[in-house]
Amino acid sequence: MNILAIDIGGSKLIAALLFADDSRFEIYSAAHRNLAADCRQEQLLTLIDDAVAELGNISFERVGVTIPGLADARNGIWVYACFSGICDFPIVQILSKRYGNKPIVIENDVNACALAEKKFGKCRELNDFLWITVSNGIGGGLVLNGEIYLGHFGAAAEIGHFEVVDFVDGCQPPIQCGCGHFGCLEAEAAGPGIAKRYAWKLQEQQKQNPSIQTPILPPYTAQKVAELARNGDAIALSVMETTGTLLGKAASYAVNLLNLEAVIFGGGVIQSFDLLLPSLEKSFRSRLFQSANPSVKLEQTGLGYHAGLAGAAAITF
Ligand SMILES: [Zn+2]
Repeated sequence: MNILAIDIGGSKLIAALLFADDSRFEIYSAAHRNLAADCRQEQLLTLIDDAVAELGNISFERVGVTIPGLADARNGIWVYACFSGICDFPIVQILSKRYGNKPIVIENDVNACALAEKKFGKCRELNDFLWITVSNGIGGGLVLNGEIYLGHFGAAAEIGHFEVVDFVDGCQPPIQCGCGHFGCLEAEAAGPGIAKRYAWKLQEQQKQNPSIQTPILPPYTAQKVAELARNGDAIALSVMETTGTLLGKAASYAVNLLNLEAVIFGGGVIQSFDLLLPSLEKSFRSRLFQSANPSVKLEQTGLGYHAGLAGAAAITF
């Protein structure tokens, strides 16, 4: 069936017309819009209308909307998004008026990706796994017994707030997280944390040896650091290695707690999964209760770049 998929992220939204059935999805057309950091509800609705209009005269049977932050899927309410002024936004009710009362579903974007991995990706045969998005932040979607596990307040699997770095003299001090704590996985290993770690390491090396040149100009980004690592830059390589180590640490805690079959990684930073995997595997296996988890796998998503749209399609089922 044809589905209107709307994937809202922290900095952009994508509207797409896609076809999906029980086992596969195919994107027919997509339109992108950038979101301002302080985007409000009215602006967001205008951008959605605008992107959907760009898709042309389309027909669809269902609408799936994925959102960053907390979703009350049952009541169709976007409860909260940490990056913007959006809270308690009855987005399903509002979109229903626009789309002729077609069935509309919302879900948190990472939970939606986990469901899509089960429906269309690498986890079709799996019942217990964790999906981890590593992007501007880090989020988790947990599938237990074949179904998404939401927890008491709908916020289960917030693996981004596992503390993974302690203060150790002489090392980079822990970075403060948006949640208020220090040393959370999200603060240390998401894109901005990678950029901060690179800047800190470069500065430390330049203190010891002022002749070291800066190979790239700030602002640093995770993507630039990954490119430098690919070109053999020692500092960038060590930053990617540390990032993998921290991700592996957090993944091992989750698997030791929940006895999962797999941990699947997606999100922008995971486009450099090959750079992260050696230290990620090493860190994960060194902390794993091996005899209870003999076959657990760490893998990159099978959904490719459009995991979010696949998620928006999957939730409509
Ligand atoms: Zn945190």
